[in-house]
This record gives sequence, structure tokens and C-alpha cells, in this order.
Amino acid sequence: HYKKKWATTAPRIPVTRLALHHFDTTYSLQLRDLWPSVRASLLCEQKYGALLNNFSPVDHVTQELELLNATDFISQAHKEAQQLQQGTSPPLRASISSNIKCYTFPRGDITRFRPARPDVLGLLDYYLMDAASLLPVLALNVQPDDSVLDLCAAPGGKTLALLQTGVCGHLAANDISISRTKRLYQVLQSYVPKEIREAVSVTSCDGRDWEQLKGSTFHKVLVDVPCTTDRHSVMEEENNIFHKKRTKERQMLPMLQLQLLMAGILATKPGGEVVYSTCSLSPLQNEHVIERAVEIAETQFSISVHVEDLSHFRILFQDTFCFFSDCQLGELVLPNLTANFGPMYFCKLRRIE
Ligand code: SAM
Repeated sequence: HYKKKWATTAPRIPVTRLALHHFDTTYSLQLRDLWPSVRASLLCEQKYGALLNNFSPVDHVTQELELLNATDFISQAHKEAQQLQQGTSPPLRASISSNIKCYTFPRGDITRFRPARPDVLGLLDYYLMDAASLLPVLALNVQPDDSVLDLCAAPGGKTLALLQTGVCGHLAANDISISRTKRLYQVLQSYVPKEIREAVSVTSCDGRDWEQLKGSTFHKVLVDVPCTTDRHSVMEEENNIFHKKRTKERQMLPMLQLQLLMAGILATKPGGEVVYSTCSLSPLQNEHVIERAVEIAETQFSISVHVEDLSHFRILFQDTFCFFSDCQLGELVLPNLTANFGPMYFCKLRRIE
């Protein structure tokens, strides 16, 4: 009996090793010479950004962070855009006007942020997240009174960032998972005053059915899909999508991503915009999904969709992030030892009238 038990629990290859092996074979082809350094970065501690909570008095927090040498990378990019605009003709299509503030430590500085603290009213002062996760939100460029849909919203980092703009008209946040939707509620409760969070409509539908359920009514839609979460997959055994029992689910991801992106396009008003994002380096989950969605929108729904140029992001945020220069449609933040954010792929689509 003892022997048998021993045999069944004997050597097991960690799932993280399987994930790394998979990435070694696929990403070395895509990233070539860059892969070894991206690989090393994925295996090292990731860097965070502190998204300031504008619903809480932030002055003393900004002072504290600036004393530590952290800077708000978004206001820095805003200044950069203004300077560039003076010198270029035609002007750079770069408006990074956002109320979102996110502090990061400089390149090469691996200081950690202290945990968030509650203010006098009980709201937390900042939300720690991968700073690259804000790029899809910035790309969405929410304008006053836009109605916004966050189709795969939990646990709510990007929903919170959307609310920090202070300009969303109506905000709908959806996620299929009930347990993760609970975490979204907790984030809203910890960061957002009651009257504002009660105006957010939170649902737990399958995002693929959105149009049938609610129609095409949004100015802006964020489609932050489930993916192979590359950093998680090489670091954490638990809940790992490379686990053998999840093979089918993993292989079906590009199909699910495509269906969610199609639902996002259909939920957008003509003239509105969709941002698609993943935290994977995989072209099958990134650019291929965009290509297929544009094609299907045209052939099956007679909807023209235009891929918007986001190359100015590469210039504006070059001090903070390391970008891959070979994407055709969107932008991809590559993990780097001196700026260990990402991976984060994002691409913006405009639905033509
Ligand atoms: N946007 C979130 C944030 O910034 O905190 C992270 C979203 S996470 C990358 C992807 C989410 O998609 C997961 O929470 C998952 O539950 C959800 N999801 C998976 N399948 C879905 C579906 N069919 N419809 C809606 N959401 C789905």
C-alpha cells in the first residue's frame, strides 16, 4: 500500500516547466534574439505601478511617493506629447489627456510599494497593478459622457482605472465568473464612493452573448480577454492553464478571444471604439485574433472595422516600458529586466458607421 502511494506521487514535472518549454519553442521563433532576455524577465519579480485613487485625498500620497523617487508615468508622457507636438508637422496624434495617475519607480529601480492604506473615509489610497495594464485603458481614450463597457472586467483593475478618468458617462462592468465578480465588487467598495459605484452596472453574463442581451449602445468597449497569462503560467503552479486537465481550454482560447472581441465590436455603436488586450506574447492570441475579427465583421456582419494606429504610445511611454517593434496591428509591452512590466498586448479598433 505504501509503495503504491509512493508511485503515484513520484516525480512530477511542474506545470510551470511545461509552460516555459512551450514558450521556448513558440516565442523564440517570434521574438528571436529578444526571447532569452524576455524569458529571464518573466522569471524575475514583476514591477508594479501605484494607480492613485482620485476619490481619496492624494496630496500626501504623491508627496510620499515622490520622496521615494517614484514618478507619475502618465503625466510624464503627457508632457512629452506636448513637447513633441511643438516640433512635429503634421502634429503627432497624441492626446494623453487623462486624469489617471500612476506612479512607478524609475528603470532599474526595483523598490516595492508599501501596501495600500485606507484614508479617513476608509477608501484605499492606491491600487497596485502592472502599470502596463493601464495602456489599454489609455488607448480607449474615454471622453466626457461616453458610455463604456468593460466586457471581461474582474477583478476590476481596469474598471477602477476607467472610473479614475472621472468622465465615464455610464459604465457597465461584466465578467462571466461569479466569484471573480465578487472581487470586482470588493475593489469598487474599497476604492470608490458609494454614489459612484452604485452607478456602475455590474453583470455576470457570458460576454459572447452581450449583443443579444443588451444591443449595440456603447461609445467605448474594453475587451480584456482571458489568455495564457504568460507571467503567471511560468511562475505559479496553482490555477495554471498549462495543467494537463486544461489542455482543451487552452487550445480553445483563441476561439473564445475571437468570440469575445466580436461581441465587443457588436456592442459598440457605429463610430465607437474597441480596445482588445491580453497579457500574453502569443501572436495566436493577439494579432491573429484581430485579423480574424476584422475579416468576420466584414464578411458576416457587413461591419467595417478600422485598426487605429497606436504607434505614438511607443514614443510617449518609451521611458517606462519596453515595446516590441515588430507588431503589425497593435502594440506589445515586453518584460525587460530594467522595466519588468507586461507582457501586455493592446490594439484599438474603430467601428465605421
Ligand atoms: N480586466 C480585468 C482587470 O483589469 O482586472 C482582468 C480580466 S482577466 C484578463 C479575463 C476575465 O475574463 C476573467 O476574469 C474571466 O473570468 C473573464 N471571462 C472568461 N470568459 C468570459 C466570458 N465568456 N465572458 C465574460 N468574461 C469572461
